[in-house]
Amino acid sequence: MRVAVPKEIVAGERRVALVPETVVQLGKAGLRVSVQAGAGEGAYVPDSAYGDAGAAIVDDAARLLAEADIVVKVQKPVRNERLAQHEVDLLREGSALVSFLQPLNDLELVRLLARRRITSFSMEMVPRTTRAQRMDALSSQATVAGYKAAVLAADSLAKFLPMLTTAAGTIRPGRVLVLGAGVAGLQAIATARRLGALVEAFDVRPAVKEEVQSLGASFIEMPIAEETQTAGGYAKELSAETHRREIDVIREHAREADAIITTAAIPGARAPILIPEDTVKLMRPGAIIVDLAADTGGNCELTRPDQETVCHGVRIVGAANLPATLPVPASQMYSRNIASVLLHLVKDGKLNVDFQDEITSGMCVTHAGEVVHERIKARMAS
Ligand code: NAD
Repeated sequence: MRVAVPKEIVAGERRVALVPETVVQLGKAGLRVSVQAGAGEGAYVPDSAYGDAGAAIVDDAARLLAEADIVVKVQKPVRNERLAQHEVDLLREGSALVSFLQPLNDLELVRLLARRRITSFSMEMVPRTTRAQRMDALSSQATVAGYKAAVLAADSLAKFLPMLTTAAGTIRPGRVLVLGAGVAGLQAIATARRLGALVEAFDVRPAVKEEVQSLGASFIEMPIAEETQTAGGYAKELSAETHRREIDVIREHAREADAIITTAAIPGARAPILIPEDTVKLMRPGAIIVDLAADTGGNCELTRPDQETVCHGVRIVGAANLPATLPVPASQMYSRNIASVLLHLVKDGKLNVDFQDEITSGMCVTHAGEVVHERIKARMAS
């Protein structure tokens, strides 16, 4: 089986789907890897490192994609302006693709993949089970984003995060508020604590309280009468009344914060607004909001995706793709996720699309000219 790693072409994307360490691992499992020349540049991986790991280096993206049995990517396929063709049209009919695909938000892409008879697997759809943990790219990339959000906040502030006791007196620590304590939020909390900040966090899932506290942060309590999480452990949308109360509770903590990092998300839905404009108006001048939910609408009403704005003296960062700003660990972690997926899918040198297997069926979007994923089919029908 020939696995191909093209150079990412979406603007600002510096990650690469496989790093040399995993190329070696796949080679030992009998997979031959080809890498487009320059694919690792953004993550500081030279072609020579791929060559040393046993990969073939191919200059021409069109040839690389046309010859591959499985293509692995970070960003979903887009139109390649240089070649004046969509990346999906460059894939060989009947070949496979493993990548982030945002299939629920891009049904046009799903239709194109089916039309081209591509067997596609979405990295967003890896089941959140213990068995699939090594493949969970949402978690690995959320870890990177959470870390970077805290570092960005620290860098932007006009004050220290840690308390400093010096000959010139004591300087009080900075205050960080983290909203949403999933994978990204917990990493933001851990990082802000390592930097010495006083950290508070809030989440609608009461189960995270202990995790927050074990990281040395305080958990903001708000009694909630309704069920806030699904059987799978994800947050549910709140009733209008609880949502209003939540905004009031957050407002009181936001006015004391130097930095707010927001990560609240509901799978498949718009991110909840937790910081309306009237809360921003009450915040300290010079404070910062890093909004990790920017690409699903933002947790702050004033967030603009991929933009940095200053409103009422508060800097608001609509952080759409933070993992790409730390391409070295983000690529290493993503590469390990991808390698685990490939080793799961390939049996005896062949792609084994076993719909009885919950990981395979959970991730597979299109196969043999059909859309095969139930949630995506339902979205298409609605
Ligand atoms: P996510 O990115 O879907 O959401 C981020 C956080 O926002 C969640 O903690 C959620 O509760 C919170 N949130 C949603 N609405 C909110 C609101 N109105 N106010 C405040 N907070 C709000 O979360 P995630 O990091 O993907 O984790 C979601 C679930 O998946 C968790 O139960 C987690 O333990 C689980 N998970 C399991 C695995 C695994 O088993 N392999 C891996 C990762 C995550």
